[in-house]
Amino acid sequence: MTINHQARKRFGQNFLIDQQIIGQIVACVAPKPADNLIEIGPGMAAITEQLITGCPSMSVLELDRDLVKFLEEKFIDQPDFSVHNGDALKTDFEQFYDGRKLRLVGNLPYNISTPLLFHLLTVGHLIEDMHFMLQREVVDRLSASPGNKTYGRLSVMIQYHCRVMPLIPVPPESFRPAPKVQSAVVRLKPHTEMPFKANNEKLLSQLVRQSFQMRRKTVRNCLRPYADHLQGADHGIDLSKRPEQLSVADFVSLANHINESINQSA
Ligand code: SAH
Repeated sequence: MTINHQARKRFGQNFLIDQQIIGQIVACVAPKPADNLIEIGPGMAAITEQLITGCPSMSVLELDRDLVKFLEEKFIDQPDFSVHNGDALKTDFEQFYDGRKLRLVGNLPYNISTPLLFHLLTVGHLIEDMHFMLQREVVDRLSASPGNKTYGRLSVMIQYHCRVMPLIPVPPESFRPAPKVQSAVVRLKPHTEMPFKANNEKLLSQLVRQSFQMRRKTVRNCLRPYADHLQGADHGIDLSKRPEQLSVADFVSLANHINESINQSA
């Protein structure tokens, strides 16, 4: 079955047309029949078509109603395949959890990638892994180490929750219409055991946000509102450093120190 579908800009539609890249993505995912596999934004099924041969019981979540209809018809002979119509940003992914952790795949619209990643982190404990096509610059930020100029809030928060593995660089010509930017496929694997655990994750996230709002300043300056809780040096962090020089472990250590101090003074 084919479809004469005009790519819709408002849905961030850039369809993959490069069979070699699609094959590489599916090889990285390595879908198995017993997986709880969900593709976000399947579009015209460029990736779905290959994923489903490995995992016939997979689900897809698509926003565009026309494409939902197309997908239902295309896979009508696949009784275990299910199509959900909805916005990934508003979807409660817990509904897909059935004792098996979720494996998520998607060539996502780039304008929703960051909010979607943060949305998914809230259910990170229910996720086995994620393979996403993103803007290459975003993949660079996700995987950046301290000291790198792309290292920032996104790097710290994602790396706090996940192992980040950049996998495949993808040029604009692999899509129709071709995006203006380079892309890359990344694998994110939520930690089953947190290497560094924040006792108050909300505080960690506030601290990281606050720090990178003024990345040229010292950590001491950025965290002035917490000054009372940063006295004593047993957090072991040199506060004259810039935020971009602190590792994930450093941020967690600061957050735990502040949290303890707040609790003690309460
Ligand atoms: N995976 C396909 C399509 C990529 S285009 C391919 O690689 O060819 C991005 C897809 O995501 C489109 O099908 C678009 O309709 C869908 N989409 C856009 N915003 C979405 C959202 N918020 N939730 C779910 N799907 C979305």
